[in-house]
Amino acid sequence: MKLIFFGPPGAGKGTQAAMLSEALGIPTVSTGNMIREEIAAGTELGLKAQQAINAGELLADEIVIGMIKTRLAKPDCAGGFILDGFPRTVAQAEGLCGMGIDVDKVIDIVVPDEALVRRLGGRRVCLKCGATYHLENNPSPAGDRCGRCGEPLSVRKDDSEAVIRSRLEVFHMQTEPLEAYYREKGILFSVDGDSDIGSIAEEIARIVRD
Ligand SMILES: [Zn+2]
Repeated sequence: MKLIFFGPPGAGKGTQAAMLSEALGIPTVSTGNMIREEIAAGTELGLKAQQAINAGELLADEIVIGMIKTRLAKPDCAGGFILDGFPRTVAQAEGLCGMGIDVDKVIDIVVPDEALVRRLGGRRVCLKCGATYHLENNPSPAGDRCGRCGEPLSVRKDDSEAVIRSRLEVFHMQTEPLEAYYREKGILFSVDGDSDIGSIAEEIARIVRD
C-alpha cells in the first residue's frame, strides 16, 4: 500500500500517519524528519536545507525528490509506505511518478483555517524545561506558568498568529494545484480533520480498506 498523507500544518498528519504506519506495518517517510536529521548530521544536503530555511524558502524540488528516491529504494519500503510532507508541489508529484511509483491513495486531511489557527495558536511551551501545553486541550495546572518548573510559559515564534497565517497561505497556494492533480487521477480521498483523533483514524482506516 503506497499512501500519501496530505494536509495543512497542524492538521495532525504526523499523528495519524504514525498510527496507520503501526497498524499496517509499513514505514512513514517524513521529509521534515529526514531534513532535520540531515541538518543535525551536518551533511552537505543539511547545510543547503538550513540555508533555505533561514531564507524562508522551500528546498528545491530536485533536492527533495533525490532524497525521497534514495529513501524509497530501501528494503523496508518494499511492502509500501506512507509519505508525510511530500509531495508539496506538482513538480514533486511528477518527480514521484517519474520514479515509476504508483501511489494507491492520497488521504487529504481537511481542517478549516480558523480551527488550525486556534489549535496552533493555543500551544504554549516552557523554554526552561521543554514542557508543552495547550490552552484548550492540555492546559498547565499552574495557569500561565509551567506546571513542572514554574517558569512563565511562552508562545513559540512559529506559533504566532501572523506566522501561522502565512504558513497556511503558502500551503493553499501550493496545495490546491496538487489536490486537483490527484483528484484528476481519481485517488484523492478527503477526511474531516476537525474531529477527534480516534474518529479521524477510523475514517482513514476505512478509506485504506475499501
Ligand atoms: Zn518548565
